[in-house]
Amino acid sequence: MKIEQAERLKQLPPYLFQEIDKAKNKAIQEGRPVISLGVGDPDTPTPDFIVKKLQEAVLDPSTHRYALDQGLKALRVAMANWYERRFGIAMDPETEILPLMGSKDGVAHIPLAFVNPGDTVLASNPGYPPYISGGIFVGAKVHMMPLLKKNGFLPDLSKIKAVALKRARLMHINYPNNPTGAVCDLKFYEDVRDFAQKHNIIVCSDAAYSEVASEGTRVYSYFEADRKKETGIEFHSLSKTFNMTGWRIGMAVGNKDVLAGLAKVKSNIDSGIFTAVQYAGIEALNRADEVKSRMNAIYNARRDAICDGLNRIGWKVEKPKGAFYVWIPVLKGYDSISMAKAMLERADIVVTPGSGFGKYGEGYIRMALTVDVPKFDEAVARIKKAFF
Ligand SMILES: *Cc1c(COP(=O)(O)O)cnc(C)c1O
Repeated sequence: MKIEQAERLKQLPPYLFQEIDKAKNKAIQEGRPVISLGVGDPDTPTPDFIVKKLQEAVLDPSTHRYALDQGLKALRVAMANWYERRFGIAMDPETEILPLMGSKDGVAHIPLAFVNPGDTVLASNPGYPPYISGGIFVGAKVHMMPLLKKNGFLPDLSKIKAVALKRARLMHINYPNNPTGAVCDLKFYEDVRDFAQKHNIIVCSDAAYSEVASEGTRVYSYFEADRKKETGIEFHSLSKTFNMTGWRIGMAVGNKDVLAGLAKVKSNIDSGIFTAVQYAGIEALNRADEVKSRMNAIYNARRDAICDGLNRIGWKVEKPKGAFYVWIPVLKGYDSISMAKAMLERADIVVTPGSGFGKYGEGYIRMALTVDVPKFDEAVARIKKAFF
């Protein structure tokens, strides 16, 4: 029998990194001293008190059964309390908070609730791949909003063409931004709010990195601009804040009608977050402040080590304000892919080519701040030797 994939899978953007992946695996197999800055996954373990809570909860058989679709009331209350402490805006735990199996769950599934075939999804680019795949899976056109350095890596809303707006239903934005490390100010969110109102577009603000930022950087929530919660939802995640990427827990907050649509989709796809993980999540959210300051001190030191180091040897990079990435223009004579290949071949350093985040990522590589300072110092020394 012939197994043929559906058109929607064939329409996904091509996977560009076969060659680089091969070279990386070969380098590791050969025992070369590879420094891996490719994957956006915290290297630090989940804090002990969260792990302990899970251990406790998992011994209680009541956590072993199907979870509630909406999540435990206590979890939704803890999420609302955290959000209000953090941003000063109250969310109703019954209608304005929806627990998710990681924010990717929400980002990827939201088009199923609001986008019809032939409609348009607006997605900032370079960006998180599910902005595109989620749109493709519902038969939508995905219109890229370029994030350019000259605009501070914010989309220029005035440049979006009328044809793209005619059937636009959703807009994905993401600050602090992966991969560029940019943050936005409140004015940007106000502009997005006005734009969304004018064109009747649901805003999906991906705030997975809201707690990861350099010292003194103020990170806003979209709802500080849309206090009436009229125009969309915001995704938050425990993954990056608490080093819990493997646990699969996050949330969407905001407009209750948008959340109801997403909840309806999800009730047909999954059966909620493992209840023991929900109890651990409550514990995490209640003690968010201590984890946040400890982790940001770690990322700040690493950000300084790699950015100051590269600038010192003559590779001009800007220190990002948010998330745990450095977005680095390639050296002269390279493109994203050839730069990443050369880094691996000549310095045993794994980075992600910017073009992997979409066409507007070309010309950059991304380094993740997921190794310790001495490794970054070593990386700088190797880069100097290989390229300068
Ligand atoms: C890591 C990341 C997320 C978080 O995904 P989870 O599903 O919550 O683990 C969301 N958005 C972006 C841009 C990310 O980089």
